[in-house]
Amino acid sequence: MSPIYESVATLSQRLEKKELSSVELTNAYLKRIKEVEPKVGAFLSYKEDDALAQARASDARRAKGESFGVLDGIPVGIKDVISVKDHPLSCASKILKPYVAPYDATVITRLRAQGATIFGRLNMDEFAMGSSTENSAYQKTKNPWDLERIPGGSSGGSAAAIAAGELPLTLGSDTGGSIRQPAALCGIVGLKPTYGLVSRYGLVAYASSLDQIGPFARTVEDAAILLQPMVGQDPYDSTSFPAKVPDYRGELSWNKGPFKLGVPKEYFGEGLDPEVRASVEAAIDFYKKQGHTIVPISLPRTNLAIPVYYIIATAEASSNLARYDGVRYGHRSAEATDALDLYYKTRAEGFGDEVKRRIILGTYVLSSGYYDAYYLKAQKVRTLIHNDFMDAFKQVDAVVCPTSPTAAFKAGEKTDDPISMYLADIYTICVNLAGLPGISIPCGFTKNNLPIGLQLIGQPFKEAQLLSIAHTFDKEHQLGLKQPKL
Ligand code: GLN
Repeated sequence: MSPIYESVATLSQRLEKKELSSVELTNAYLKRIKEVEPKVGAFLSYKEDDALAQARASDARRAKGESFGVLDGIPVGIKDVISVKDHPLSCASKILKPYVAPYDATVITRLRAQGATIFGRLNMDEFAMGSSTENSAYQKTKNPWDLERIPGGSSGGSAAAIAAGELPLTLGSDTGGSIRQPAALCGIVGLKPTYGLVSRYGLVAYASSLDQIGPFARTVEDAAILLQPMVGQDPYDSTSFPAKVPDYRGELSWNKGPFKLGVPKEYFGEGLDPEVRASVEAAIDFYKKQGHTIVPISLPRTNLAIPVYYIIATAEASSNLARYDGVRYGHRSAEATDALDLYYKTRAEGFGDEVKRRIILGTYVLSSGYYDAYYLKAQKVRTLIHNDFMDAFKQVDAVVCPTSPTAAFKAGEKTDDPISMYLADIYTICVNLAGLPGISIPCGFTKNNLPIGLQLIGQPFKEAQLLSIAHTFDKEHQLGLKQPKL
């Protein structure tokens, strides 16, 4: 039987028992990639030889009885915003091409130390700005459940690759929903850790006070396996936090609650698709029937999240993206006549429309005279949004709600309407503003066989508990192991 839709928990056992080698496993994915990638378009690039060399090294370790553990020999795909030494890094933008990363991000160093095979560059919205992966300067990624639809974004390649059976695990980044929303739309698991849990060293900055790297997987258990080595303080990232690192996978087996789950009324209002609502309510009912307590709660500032996010994120982006000036990285305009002209032309040629829109907006909200009215005010409201959650956590262990108001939408449906695209993140953005961990797990399908995601939001640095709550549902349903017809 082909191993491509098995969980990592199962695959690692088979590797351990030598029923399967890492080279065989890697070849099975490579074969699948050749079959389905022309339809799905999840990868910007990959190096077969490099993957097979890492797989051979893993098999050699196992042959000597020196395995590094559960991730040894398992391929992990990487969103094109995370540095992998000697591999191209473009953030799906023309402005970085032909940049090659000169060093490994901390998460990559840590995964290599576990023997994971670091494999491929996965497509995304340019500089992680978007919710559909249609803002990539290179290609459009399709949703494996319906090729006419988007996979979500901005980590659309990372989610689609798993749903298409091209990889068992991937990394993404989440600034306003970019892990959880594509996980929901592709029917898999995606976790955005607490701000500061995972080092951002080697992650190209979009909005530095919101960005986090996190895992995609088919099951909650697999997400726990991938998260484990990624966490912990890093001297290269001053915002990484010296949290005590629990045994995430171990806790799944003993932490069975009962849990108190808050259902925020603001997440079930206007704009929520009835099929998504029904599926999320059925999942909440499941928790109730299992003996967990469901508490109606309110997060009153939810409606302010999108405006606040589009002030803070664009302000930070306008300053982070100032470094792409044609001098230091990637693209340099051939038409420039002097230094200033070089900046203008390089940036005009290199950035796509959405990135330009955000740089302009961010520069405006930071400009003198407007700083207090927009940026400073947004920071204050951000604190209030954080306080709403902290008040809720006095009563509940976690918040349960939809991840996205709708299932995957059709390609092109929202490309001419940025506001309606921004609204796709209405349930995910608060979590980044408040710095909290959030996970999306598959909870059902629409009548058209499109996946639906359930979001669980946890307390800061309580990922172990959040994963246990998510596992309670996931272990009984295992919807992420389902295969779309491709
Ligand atoms: N869709 C949101 C945006 O466009 C969030 C993106 C993200 O999390 N990187 O900014």
